[in-house]
Amino acid sequence: MSLAARPKVELHLHLEGAAPPAFIRGLAQEKSLDLTGLFAPDGSYAIAGFRHFLKVYEAACTVLRTPEDYRRLTLAVLEESAASGVVYTEVFLSPDFCGGRDVAAWQEYLEAIREAAEAAGRRDGIVMRAIATAIRHQGPDRARETAVCAAETAGGFLTGFGLAGDESAGRPRDFRWAFDCAREAGLRLTAHAGEWGGPESVRDAIRDLGVERIGHGVRAIEDPVLVEEIAAAGIVLECCPGSNIALGLYPGWRDHPIDRLRARGVKVTVSTDDPPYFHTTMTHEYDRLAEAFGWDDGVFGEIELTSINAAFCDTSTRDTIVKRLEAA
Ligand SMILES: [Zn+2]
Repeated sequence: MSLAARPKVELHLHLEGAAPPAFIRGLAQEKSLDLTGLFAPDGSYAIAGFRHFLKVYEAACTVLRTPEDYRRLTLAVLEESAASGVVYTEVFLSPDFCGGRDVAAWQEYLEAIREAAEAAGRRDGIVMRAIATAIRHQGPDRARETAVCAAETAGGFLTGFGLAGDESAGRPRDFRWAFDCAREAGLRLTAHAGEWGGPESVRDAIRDLGVERIGHGVRAIEDPVLVEEIAAAGIVLECCPGSNIALGLYPGWRDHPIDRLRARGVKVTVSTDDPPYFHTTMTHEYDRLAEAFGWDDGVFGEIELTSINAAFCDTSTRDTIVKRLEAA
């Protein structure tokens, strides 16, 4: 089977970050909004480094203003995912962008996104679950409000809570209240760490927030003791190699630590993060990983199973996806 045709499981995708640039341009035109400077001459997002990426990202998000915009965005994003063979995806949603952390407004956005996900499921067979995500550089107070939004809508479609944004802002322990609130509501937990922060940021997130997955986490490789601890604890890393390489964290695919982490028994998975910003897709990630590390169907099959077993979904959804993976 070609890598493109393999059914894939993605655990780390930001909804706004996955917005096709043509979709954002079209929406801006409809609303007569000026996005000058946001796009490169070839129509892709123009980004230079991580801080600039966050700026462009937030500027692109300014055209997304209503639940209807998010309904259309979700359909566009899931179409792209399905085209890359993704059969199950977990998507980060931000109550900051969706209703400004107002619970009633957030409920409307979430419902629009859920309906779009169901429609995409009927259209493409893709299954989506959502992870409400606090934005770290907005600070712990806003993270609390985000957690309250998440707790109020926990269950069914919304199955996780996470922390994204600028890792240099604050410490994981500042966000403990938000994570405790989400955990008590039955949500499963993940946090970005070990991308811009070093191994200590991974250790802090595991210890202070009690997460079972880490977004990125790849810089754990710099601390062999931590690598052993993560492997022993079964912590899952949501690796996004193409994102790391596009942002200059590693010079090339062969330099990315995903293969070394895997060789040391760490549960690694593969995702695209914000694919159009980093000129990637799930199929592109697979192709580059096969090329860089000689990964074959056996390795990808193992990673897909690791991913679905780490998914924040109920067991019957998991069993259905496992059957689809096995059938392929
Ligand atoms: Zn991310």
